[in-house]
Amino acid sequence: MPFVVTENCIKCKHTDCVEVCPVDCFHEGPNFLVIDPDECIDCTLCEPECPVNAIFPEDDVPAGQEVFVGLNAELAKEWPVLTVRKEPPADAGDWDGKPDKLPLLER
Ligand code: SF4
Ligand code: SF4
Repeated sequence: MPFVVTENCIKCKHTDCVEVCPVDCFHEGPNFLVIDPDECIDCTLCEPECPVNAIFPEDDVPAGQEVFVGLNAELAKEWPVLTVRKEPPADAGDWDGKPDKLPLLER
């Protein structure tokens, strides 16, 4: 069961998660990261690294965020792998916990 990046990563994108992944699953878009479900080995290391609690096992994705399971699979095929942490956007803290960020997802 792969892990999934969900809504609260949008416009937060702290990238703390990428450095712990042993199999380089994370792919970076303009304002969101995704996990490639075909590469994830379910090691659980990334989940506690996310400062905004955006990463969940596929079976524990919060109600209403199921769309992110498909989005991770789809966008991982389009976006490049990211393995090194970057500075988050300057306003990342302002977006933590904001509801309904899905329309803000940039591709
Ligand atoms: S640590 Fe969390 S918010 Fe930051 S990029 Fe990873 S999943 Fe997104
Ligand atoms: S659970 Fe492990 S393998 Fe899967 S994305 Fe997280 S760190 Fe990578």
